Amino acid sequence: MTLKNLVGGAWISGQGSGEALIDPVLGQEVARVSVDGVSYGDALSHARRVGGPALRALSYAERAQLLGRIADVLSANKDDYYAIALENMGATRADAAFDIDGAIFTLKYYAKAGSTLGDARILRNGDVTPLSRDGAFQAVHLSVPVTGAAILINAFNFPAWGLWEKAAVALLSGVPVLAKPATATAWLAQRMVEDVDRERVLPPGALSIMCGPAGDLLERVSLGDVVAFTGSAETAAHVRTAPGVVRHSTRVNIEADSLNVAVLGPDAALGSAEFDLLIGEVIKEMTIKAGQKCTAIRRVLVPSQQYAAIAEALAARLSTIVVGNPRNATVNMGPLVSKAQQRTVQNGIAELAREAIVISGDNGSFKPVDADPDRSAFVAPTLFGCMDPSAATSVHDVEVFGPVATLLPYRDLEDALALASRGGGSLVASVFTADPQIMQAATLGLAASHGRVHLVNASVAKSHSGHGNVMPMSIHGGPGRAGGGQELGGLRALHLYHQLAVVQGPSDFVQNISAQTACA
Ligand code: NAP
Repeated sequence: MTLKNLVGGAWISGQGSGEALIDPVLGQEVARVSVDGVSYGDALSHARRVGGPALRALSYAERAQLLGRIADVLSANKDDYYAIALENMGATRADAAFDIDGAIFTLKYYAKAGSTLGDARILRNGDVTPLSRDGAFQAVHLSVPVTGAAILINAFNFPAWGLWEKAAVALLSGVPVLAKPATATAWLAQRMVEDVDRERVLPPGALSIMCGPAGDLLERVSLGDVVAFTGSAETAAHVRTAPGVVRHSTRVNIEADSLNVAVLGPDAALGSAEFDLLIGEVIKEMTIKAGQKCTAIRRVLVPSQQYAAIAEALAARLSTIVVGNPRNATVNMGPLVSKAQQRTVQNGIAELAREAIVISGDNGSFKPVDADPDRSAFVAPTLFGCMDPSAATSVHDVEVFGPVATLLPYRDLEDALALASRGGGSLVASVFTADPQIMQAATLGLAASHGRVHLVNASVAKSHSGHGNVMPMSIHGGPGRAGGGQELGGLRALHLYHQLAVVQGPSDFVQNISAQTACA
């Protein structure tokens, strides 16, 4: 089966044999993709010419309704998506839910949030300001939807959520979407777009998808396009500096890799609720999606006097994880998405092993349940410990994108915050402490280098949203190596797909146009 591309309003097959998508448990081909002979340029011009005007003819509230209908279509086909996630990614039920249900939740959130913008077609940024003493000449800052296309380039680990968390915001803004999912796991995104297209939810040209290598995509960008990229820092550098992007000063949002930290507060000792909450969170982050989450905890900072107890508790929990074929009901951690990722993660483990010791991992007897180790892409959950984190480098630099984390002892909070910032800018830091003063100091110390600071004590044990969970009402993105991007965060996300302009003119006109706006 070769997946078709939705381009210019038609489903088109690429030429040639294309690339195979492989089941990472069974090692069998599940589908093929090809964009050979299919034009990124045609896809983009159709989106700009047909999809953009049709979307912008609608109000924010009308477009929000479309998001609600997309969520309904996806909900109705959820079982198929779980099956695809299993075949193409080896996703357990929980892994698939994280991606698929997360996508639907985000669409529903933006359907509701967007409805509050009512009949408006433009956004206002701040109040009307007088520019003359007599008040006759005034100014207002307006945000209008960009007139190009949203080019959504996504990573392999979230084919569903990655597509819809971006598309929801672009479509609500009135900007047509060209989706380019990662090749290895494109099937789920492609099927979702196919289902939405079949139900004619969106105006023609509002949603296109091409499944295969990026080719000349970034050479085809033009004025008013926005590139929203998620992937590795290495590819991000290519995207930022692509000649087409540079030529047109194309707006680029980068969500890249990250060495996120979880910090156990200096106050939290063995037996405290915060100690246990940290243990649970680290285990979850190492094993959900086999650690293939940009927000996953990679470094665990603990008071040096708690190091041994934490190492023991984590090792005990990791020993209960059953790794293998998710078709077996006892399994609670699946494979990496491909043999290529397995090799990359194994290389990363070897690199970390140069400066850290293995607390828990493959002792030579690791064997996935119900899977052939030669054909499948499993890696044992691996916890490292590094006794001299200040002197170490790889543990702060190398993002091993799998079920891998390193335990790092710290002397005091100041030391912990300094070590956290060695990640060079990350998506999220979580802090587990019962002490409000530590919360305060950690928040101020972490917020400049982390896009999200996630604070946990016993009072939120049941209600906190999770270190690795990206909520649509909170921003997602981080500075430095995390890409410097910003997605989501409620309606503030719309600004990525709007152009800000100040309108200066006669006060009656400025007042009148301001009355037609909504604030976001
Ligand atoms: P990747 O290799 O960088 O690929 C990301 C996307 O870029 C894919 O769609 C890929 O297409 C495309 N691409 C590759 N070369 C390109 C080029 N020259 N021009 C334009 N697009 C190009 O990343 P990945 O391996 O899929 O994902 C893993 C990485 O993503 C990890 O580092 C992880 O931390 C990061 N990530 C970050 C976030 C976040 O929100 N910050 C979320 C998830 C993942 P092909 O697949 O066709 O090569």
